[in-house]
Amino acid sequence: MASGTNSTYAKLLSTQQQLDQCVPTQQHSTDGNHTRLNKYMNSFSAVQNNATPFPLVKFVAKSLLPTDFGDFNLFVYQDREGKEQLAIVRGNVAGKTSVLTRLHSECMTGDVFKSQRCDCGDQLQNALRKVEEEKSGVILYLRQEGRGIGLTNKIKAYELQEQGYNTVQANLMLGLPVDARDYSIGLAILQDLGVQSIRLLTNNPAKLEAFSNSLVKVVERVPLQIRPNEHNVAYLTTKRDVTGHYLNHLQNV
Ligand SMILES: [Zn+2]
Repeated sequence: MASGTNSTYAKLLSTQQQLDQCVPTQQHSTDGNHTRLNKYMNSFSAVQNNATPFPLVKFVAKSLLPTDFGDFNLFVYQDREGKEQLAIVRGNVAGKTSVLTRLHSECMTGDVFKSQRCDCGDQLQNALRKVEEEKSGVILYLRQEGRGIGLTNKIKAYELQEQGYNTVQANLMLGLPVDARDYSIGLAILQDLGVQSIRLLTNNPAKLEAFSNSLVKVVERVPLQIRPNEHNVAYLTTKRDVTGHYLNHLQNV
């Protein structure tokens, strides 16, 4: 686990950090910094073309995380863009099969402020409760706010939704994808944790699809159904009707 500290990727990151501090704001093609940058980029390409898999994430920190739901371990990983990606882990999951797992994409408004415009906050809390009940499991907290379009664009989309457009229409009107999320980082973290197979907490068929070519197999889908409120019922029915989420409990809505 977390064997990446001496990896080529780790060394490149270190080089990148050094370069970040010295790359000039104005490009001078003959100066030393530029030469060093080229050298770095060449070595980066060499690693990418190498047959050895180039890790998507690097383990960087771990600590205990006592919460209202139970006591977890928090693992911090760094992705290739330098973003911190989190794994909230209960119990020893290395080498285990059928590990209860949630891939949760960051939603600041829902997770932190308990916004009722979506079901993210409730889903995160329910996942933490279920993992605690089993005394084993993983919640991956993936830094892809607003289904990957970012907070600002999400808020712009909310404004359009206030004019009567649904979540899909609003994204398209802004020239953005309906769903820009990428689960490959989550899969890489599960592999690093040594998880063999999972029971995936989700209503989203795209998340199941993401595991189709993964070394980590999904042995079961576990529904994560949230009771709708007056603010998120349209959001949830759009998920059911347009993006194909498994939300049969909304059948009378
Ligand atoms: Zn949300």
